[in-house]
Parts: sequence; structure tokens; C-alpha cells
Amino acid sequence: MTSSSGISVSGLTKVFGTTTVLKDISIDIAPGERVVVIGPSGTGKSTLLRCLNFLDRPDSGTIRVGDLRIDAKTASGADILALRRRTSFVFQNYALFANKTARENISQALITVKSLSRSEANARADAILRETGLADKADVYPAALSGGQQQRVGIGRAMALDAELMLFDEPTSALDPEWVGEVLDLMRRVAEERQTMLIVTHEMQFAREIADRIIFMADGHIVEQGPPAQLLDLPQDDRTKAFLRRVG
Ligand code: ADP
Ligand code: MG
Repeated sequence: MTSSSGISVSGLTKVFGTTTVLKDISIDIAPGERVVVIGPSGTGKSTLLRCLNFLDRPDSGTIRVGDLRIDAKTASGADILALRRRTSFVFQNYALFANKTARENISQALITVKSLSRSEANARADAILRETGLADKADVYPAALSGGQQQRVGIGRAMALDAELMLFDEPTSALDPEWVGEVLDLMRRVAEERQTMLIVTHEMQFAREIADRIIFMADGHIVEQGPPAQLLDLPQDDRTKAFLRRVG
């Protein structure tokens, strides 16, 4: 993870049917900043992350990553591919290919997104598998891995892309409790490298430890934000207070 240039999101909106799920969201994330997003379910957290990678296409707004600037209304296929080269995504349910080994799950992403040759991609995948403690699982299929190991492959795949921004959507919420710790440990290591990260999670202790800033979202809006000690211990808005009472 060499490059980190931050991201600037302005006026992002997303409508599903008759429901406006994201309402004019603006966020600036500095290079190397680790931002955690919390909020009630159904509030638009996943949609926000998916819009940042155009997994869902925003209806309006602009996204800037480094020297790339994309307008939701006019983005071309080439723009979207360029955005995906600069952002990587870790999914709640790992989203591994069941018919590919751990190595192939990582190398395929490098071939598709980064246009590496298969041998370059496999070499990079093996280095990542060593870094994530999974070297002995290179030839294993997801079904034979624990949930924690599958998610470490998912994070390894995102690390391999060497993206300027890593997006994590509740990466531990599908895991049995016994596997949560090893996944958070790997994310801590990524955070220590000053990788720019935007993380949706309900792991409040983890958020307090690694976040530079926590954003509380409700009903498609950013309600308030601040450093962990401010947002978690001195919340201002009643909705934030109620949410923290429920999860705390
Ligand atoms: P969160 O991640 O905060 O739980 P989501 O972003 O998943 O919230 O969902 C926000 C709202 O958008 C919910 O009301 C959800 O039902 C709706 N939604 C999400 N994805 C879609 C979709 N593909 N089609 C229609 N509605 C969707
Ligand atoms: Mg979600």
C-alpha cells in the first residue's frame, strides 16, 4: 500500500424507486485518515459505500480521488473503471468466488482490475497470502476455509489492489464471534500502515481504537461527526445518543 491521496465526495444522492436513500452527502477524507461510519440499519451506510465504488450508481454528486474527478450524471465506463482502480471493497459476506482458490480469488482481481499477467498476479497474491497469515491456504477453496479465513482473503484481495481508498462494509458482522478478533487484527494492521479507510462497523471498541473520525448517519444524512472521544462520549444529537445507548 503505497499511494494514499484522500477522497472528496460532494452532494451525493441516491434514489431507489420513490425513496431517497442518500440525501446530499458530502465527505472529505484526508490521505491516511481512518473514518468509521455508524448508524441504524436501513440508513444508507452500505449504499454510500457502494456509490463510492459505483457498485450502485449515484444519481447526482461528484467524487474526487487523487486527480480523478467523476460526476455521477456523466460518468463513463472508463471513469468507473478508473475509480475502481483507486478504491477497493471488503464485503460483509466476503464475496469470494466459490470455484476459485484463495490465491485465484486475489489474483483474478489483479488481472481484471489492474491488468496484471497471470504470473504477476499469482506472485502478488502469494505475497499477500503470506502477509495475511494464509500462505498455507493458497490452494484451498473458500468452502474449506473458516469465516475468519474467508474474510482475511477478502481483505487480502482489497489490499492487493493497492487502492488509494479501502471501503469496508461491516466486515465482521457475518462472522461467528470466534473469528471476529483475527479479522479486526488484520484491519488494525492495515490501519497502522496509514491506508485511507472508510469502515462501516458496529464494533464500537474497535472504532474507538482506530478511527481518526466517526460519522453518525441516520435516514440518509450525516447527523454528526467527530473524533471518537467526542462522538462516542459527548454526542450532541438525540438520534446519536439513542443509537449509542442501543449498541453500547
Ligand atoms: P444500511 O447499510 O445503513 O443498513 P442500506 O444502504 O443497505 O442501509 O439501505 C438503505 C435503504 O435503501 C434501505 O431502505 C434499503 O431497503 C434500500 N435499498 C438498498 N439497496 C437497495 C436496492 N438495490 N433496491 C432498492 N432499495 C434498496
Ligand atoms: Mg449495510
